[in-house]
Parts: sequence; C-alpha cells; structure tokens
Amino acid sequence: MPEIKVAKHAGFCFGVKKAIEIAEEVAQNNKEKTYVYGQLVHNEQVIKKLEGKGIIFVESINKIPENAVTVLRAHGEPGTTYKLLEEKSITKGKNLNDATCPLVTLVHNVAIKLKNNGYEVILFGKRNHPEAIGTSYHLKGSSTFVVENPEDYESVIEHLNKNNFEKAAIISQTTMSVHGYKKLIDSLNSKLNGSKFVEIPLSMKDMTRKYGYVDTICNPTKQRQSDTEELAEECDVVIVIGGKNSSNSKELYAKCRELGVESYFIQSEEQLQKEWLGGKEKIGVTAGASTPDYLIKEVVEKIREMTKLAIPLQKTPRFQD
Ligand code: SF4
Repeated sequence: MPEIKVAKHAGFCFGVKKAIEIAEEVAQNNKEKTYVYGQLVHNEQVIKKLEGKGIIFVESINKIPENAVTVLRAHGEPGTTYKLLEEKSITKGKNLNDATCPLVTLVHNVAIKLKNNGYEVILFGKRNHPEAIGTSYHLKGSSTFVVENPEDYESVIEHLNKNNFEKAAIISQTTMSVHGYKKLIDSLNSKLNGSKFVEIPLSMKDMTRKYGYVDTICNPTKQRQSDTEELAEECDVVIVIGGKNSSNSKELYAKCRELGVESYFIQSEEQLQKEWLGGKEKIGVTAGASTPDYLIKEVVEKIREMTKLAIPLQKTPRFQD
C-alpha cells in the first residue's frame, strides 16, 4: 500500500509568515484601505485570501493614494521605493509597514560591505525577481552583473577579464539552489588560472582576497532543498506545491527533475491527476516557502482519496494528529 511522506520543512518560512501576519494585523487595525506594494508572497491563493480581507495589491506605486496605509513585501525593496512613497507622505513609523525579511536585509548589508571594500559584486539570482532588484539597488542598480544559471559561468569570466577588477565577489539571492551556487563557483574556479573564488564567511572580517563569495542562501531555503532531495531519493513520485512565480518552489521542482524522480509542480489539489499516483509505493509531497499549510493538507487529503489509502500519514512535526 502506498505511503505519503511530507517533507519536514515544507511551506511557509518565518519571513513569509511574518509578512502575512503584518499585513493582516495592519488591515485589521486600519479603518481605511490597506495597500500592499507587489505580491506580498508569490502564491496566488494566499493573495486571493488577503484580498478577501480588504487588502489591495498594487504593482505600481502610482496606484497608492497619498497618505495610504501601506505594507512592503518580504522580498526587500530598492531605496527608490521608499523615496517614491515618501513623496506620497508614506513613511516608516507613520503609515509604512515594512515586512522585509531580516535575511534579505542581511544580503543587502553583505552587498554594501563588499562594495565598500572595493569588490565588484556579482549576484547569482533571477534578474527580474523583486529580491534581486532590491539587492542590485545597493550595488550598481540595473547595471549590476547578474548571473542566473551556473551554466552561464563563462559570462562571469568574460566580465572579469574585460574589466580587470582589482577584487570581485559573488553573492546569491536567498532562494537560489545550493547546488547551483556551488556548481557556479566550482565551474569558475576550474577555469580561472590565477586566483580562485574562496568563501568569505558571513562575519566578513577578511576582505583581502581577490576573489570571494558569500553564502547568502537563507537557511529555510536550504532546509527545503535538502528535505526535497531526501524525498526525491526515497519516493517514486514527488508532488511539489508552489505559486507559479515562486522562485524557491520552482527550485524544488528543478531539484526533483535533476535527481530523475518523477515529479509534478502544482498550485493546488485541483491539478492533481490520478494517473500520476497509480502503482506508486511512496509518494512525496513538498512545498516552497510561500505555500500555506492548508494547501499542503488539501493536496495530501486528495492524494489519500485518490489512492484510497487506509494507512495514516507518515508523521512529521507539522502534520501530527
Ligand atoms: S525564503 Fe528566506 S529570505 Fe525569503 S522570506 Fe523566507 S526566510 Fe526570508
């Protein structure tokens, strides 16, 4: 009889949870409309629920009225966002509630410190992702060199050779693949003749190396990736739940595919298909950091229903009876 195994770390990370709590609390205590700039989290279902609580999501600051109570998402904003909001009398301590995750702020601080110590800072991330845009603001803005895939390491070498920087360092968006980051660094080092990229610890005490990299992928992302790897190794099929725009959820799906396990990326239980589950002995379920618990539970219930399981779920701290 098939067994369902849910990843120990799956779904909301603390940064996303906090951002949602802030938005809900602000909306509850605010008699006027509450605005959120951008997708608070990359999950369509969560956004719909919050809209139902009277929160208005806008993709342009132009759509936020003067003086409006506003919440900023977890991904971290460029300084220009704060300036534009200030022009509308929306400021911190008054009507601006900043839900930027502290681990994103940490990346900003690392970027600033490297830059101030003479490093050309290269970002391993998704060019159009709000977090990458926010981090780039602290570097060279839209001219910041961003590398999206480890396979593009040659473009980094070209950038280094062309500009002959005295020092260069690589940092990562918090939600990138741990293996992808390692692959990028290893590929670069295998091609470089002189200095190699060596890790600069987060304490950032030694800033003398010519080439360095800082491990800025956040722990919740790492936990979700390693738990997903475990699932991929022991399950016959893995269902990954996440929003279409969720970078970390897509990374989990990519990881499953890379490891060769049959896997499917869905947004909700409605997309599950019975034929995916037929004949499977162990079914794994995982979810990105922007997927709420209730969606995971719904998917698990649907799998049980579809496979007519008579056995209980494998217990994890998140799904105990
Ligand atoms: S994925 Fe990491 S950086 Fe992003 S909100 Fe969650 S904990 Fe913070």
